[in-house]
Amino acid sequence: MFLKRLEIIGFKSFADKVVLNFEKGITAIVGPNGSGKSNISDAVRLVLGEQSIKSLRGNKLEDVIFVGTDKRKPLSFAEVNLTLDNSDHTLPLDFTEVVITRKIFRSGESEFYINKTQCRLKDVYELFMDTGIGRDGYSIIGQGKIDEILVSRPEDRRQIFEEASGISKYKYKKEEALKK
Ligand code: ATP
Ligand code: MG
Repeated sequence: MFLKRLEIIGFKSFADKVVLNFEKGITAIVGPNGSGKSNISDAVRLVLGEQSIKSLRGNKLEDVIFVGTDKRKPLSFAEVNLTLDNSDHTLPLDFTEVVITRKIFRSGESEFYINKTQCRLKDVYELFMDTGIGRDGYSIIGQGKIDEILVSRPEDRRQIFEEASGISKYKYKKEEALKK
C-alpha cells in the first residue's frame, strides 16, 4: 500500500483545487517559509480523522477552511481526498484503490467518505487500525514526536509497539465488545 494522490480543496492556504500525485519512492516537498508545506501534512492528518485542533495548528476546526484574502472571499467548506494504492490489499477491502474523503463545514461539522460512500469517523479509524497510518499511527512523525516517544511513560510507548505488531485492533474490539 502506498499514498498515490492527495487532492486538497479550500483547506488552509489551498483555495483552489490542488492535486499532488506521488510516485513510489521518496518525495520531498520544498518551498519558502509559509508557502504551505506543513499544510500538506495537516491535510493528510485531517483526512485520516484527526480530531485534535492543536495537531492541525488551529484554534477551532473551522480555522482550517480557507479564510479569504483582500481579493478572494472565504470558502464555506474544505475537502481533502486521499487516494491509497491497495493492490496488495493491506486494507481489508476488495478495491485496489481506496479514496478517503473528509469535508469540513463552517459549522464545525465533518463528513467522511470511503470510496465516495459516506461513513462515520469510526469506520475510517477502524479501517486504518494496525496499519500504522491512522490518526494514532506513526506514519506521520511531526516535530517533537521523537522526543515525546523517548520521554513518554512505558504504557504510552507500548501503544506504538502494539500498533506495529497488529495487536491494537484486537484490544479495541475487546473494549468495544465489553461496552455492549
Ligand atoms: P515553514 O517553512 O515556516 O514551516 P510552511 O511551508 O510549512 O512554512 P505552512 O505552515 O504550511 O508553511 O503554511 C502557512 C501559511 O498557511 C500561512 O501563510 C497562513 O497564512 C496560511 N494559512 C493557514 N491557515 C489558513 C487559512 N485557513 N486560510 C488561508 N491561509 C491559511
Ligand atoms: Mg512548516
